[in-house]
Amino acid sequence: MSRFIFPHAALCLAAPLMLLSCQDKESSAPAEAQADRMAALHQPSPYSRLILEIDAVPGLTPSNAVQAQIGEALAGLLDKPDGISFVEDEALPAVGADHAWTDEALFALAEAHYNLVAETGAVKIHVMVLDGHSAEDSAEGQVLGLAWSNTHLVLFADVLRAQCMTPGGIAITPLCEEAERAVWLHELGHIVGLVNRGAPPTRDHVDPDHDAHCDNPDCVMYWAYERQGVFELLKQRRAGAPPTTFDEACRADLAAAR
Ligand SMILES: [Zn+2]
Ligand SMILES: [Zn+2]
Repeated sequence: MSRFIFPHAALCLAAPLMLLSCQDKESSAPAEAQADRMAALHQPSPYSRLILEIDAVPGLTPSNAVQAQIGEALAGLLDKPDGISFVEDEALPAVGADHAWTDEALFALAEAHYNLVAETGAVKIHVMVLDGHSAEDSAEGQVLGLAWSNTHLVLFADVLRAQCMTPGGIAITPLCEEAERAVWLHELGHIVGLVNRGAPPTRDHVDPDHDAHCDNPDCVMYWAYERQGVFELLKQRRAGAPPTTFDEACRADLAAAR
């Protein structure tokens, strides 16, 4: 995201959901339901497989290379002996670059399209890849992604790509791909419980100024990884540096959830 910002009041009125984005600090999901969801995602039983159900506007689906990187990262975090797969499910209608998605509209879209029938033994995560932009964009930057209820995530792929295309061109640059990977991984981090969103912190690393985020700027759960700031962060990294991932503190939280 550049930012993901969710006005709490509007959120809570609109939907009794547990939001995992920067702005959701309020959770009305029962703790028991969240614990069950965490177990389903992290543990090998009763769900030995994970499926990422991808509903995307045509042309915006992340590349196979990015999907492979995400799959590899998740495989190191979640105990899914029968594997992790990506299913490109429905084509969502394009709405145009000027369309501002409200949180309520995103929740409704998720409700309408989270419908892939998974076989017994598979747990799902819902990924929606959209054009348009968040209605919560502000002077602090544009929102690139958001996640809620340890289940659904949105990537504003059009916004993201508009910032990393070659000038006048349509080529997807390495920066673009890295940003897409980082934002996606960040949102998945929220879904699997970070930071203190289902996986209790094993040490103090919650950013006091950005709830649900890690205080380490080198960690993919740092708040700016879902905002426009991700591009600056990535540009500042040394050439040849490994891709940003979960730091030790975040990994420890996830390991404790397994
Ligand atoms: Zn975040
Ligand atoms: Zn971290």
